[in-house]
Amino acid sequence: MTLIAVLPGDGIGPEVTAEAVRVLTALDLGLTFEEAPVGGAGYDADGHPLPSATLDLARRADAVLFGAVGDTRYDGLERRLRPEQAILGLRAALGLFANLRPARLFKGLEDASTLKREVAERIDMVIIRELNGDVYFGEKGIRPTADGRRQGYDVMAYAEDEVRRIAHVGFRTAQGRKGRLCSVDKANVLETSQLWRDVVIEVAAEYPDVALSHMYVDNAAMQLVRDPGQFDVILTGNLFGDILSDQASMCAGSIGMLPSAALNDGGKGLYEPIHGSAPDIAGQGRANPCATILSAAMMLRHSLNRPEAADRIEAAVATAIAGGARTADLGGTLSTRAMADAVLAAL
Ligand code: NAD
Repeated sequence: MTLIAVLPGDGIGPEVTAEAVRVLTALDLGLTFEEAPVGGAGYDADGHPLPSATLDLARRADAVLFGAVGDTRYDGLERRLRPEQAILGLRAALGLFANLRPARLFKGLEDASTLKREVAERIDMVIIRELNGDVYFGEKGIRPTADGRRQGYDVMAYAEDEVRRIAHVGFRTAQGRKGRLCSVDKANVLETSQLWRDVVIEVAAEYPDVALSHMYVDNAAMQLVRDPGQFDVILTGNLFGDILSDQASMCAGSIGMLPSAALNDGGKGLYEPIHGSAPDIAGQGRANPCATILSAAMMLRHSLNRPEAADRIEAAVATAIAGGARTADLGGTLSTRAMADAVLAAL
């Protein structure tokens, strides 16, 4: 039995996950779905954003399909009880260290990008961001200097095994695509980056079929808007990846179209749209479900070993969009349900 943990969360999360489950069900792959509350919904149900029964389900499941969490209603709670803590808790508990964010421009959405049409239409890349290390997890604090001023500090550090395992994810992803991997760092200034680069070069010896290049992060930020079509797979650390992945996804158009995955080294993953809970449109049936439907496709490819089913879902979304199906974020009038219906019809 293949068990999928469905964690809809808050706001539009339940609306979009319901449509992704409908698409997965239509493929008739023998999947079993079990749902549990998370985020604000977890807090309402159990006094904690990641209730123990939800965490237990996520551990038992073969993969996790996640909606979104967060609402201003919970802003007054202490930090450990805020909805967003559920994502950090799941990442830690499941050992999710590799964040994959594909950014691709679907034919027909060229004008949704803020870039010029001829630049935007070539976007088809994956950014791979390391999730467990870097400056976010180093020693940090605010300390007094010798002359009594306050100084904030956050230590940037990467261990070579952390770099090695994310590098393997990068090379394997490139093998399944156009075979080009661009590692982004700041090795001209940072020792952490120099080690990153050395280790990536070592790992490259195991993947002679992948063309490896290196780019400094400041140049990468520029190239992503100048000529994003040059990239196939970008591999980078936690801090640089946080920034570059948001930049790349916006170059590709609407936030409602962009999926993501967070993987551990056992093939398990958490799959979620990159958008949040969108409280401004929640409950109105206006959310675009495509990002979550495409996240379900990533789940089939990366955790369930069903790449042909993943291809079918992605092709169905492309067909629906090319055929003119549009929710409000894409300038159309379709409801969440009607957009998923268009994808199902194409399927
Ligand atoms: P958001 O992504 O929820 O919304 C930003 C804008 O994009 C809104 O105008 C929204 O209506 C629109 N939008 C988002 N998804 C859409 C979709 N599928 N279809 C159509 N339009 C869509 O970001 P925000 O407003 O900054 O945050 C709202 C809440 O979500 C906050 O509580 C935040 O902490 C949380 N959040 C959660 C996650 C997550 O669960 N992984 C990620 C980001 C933000």
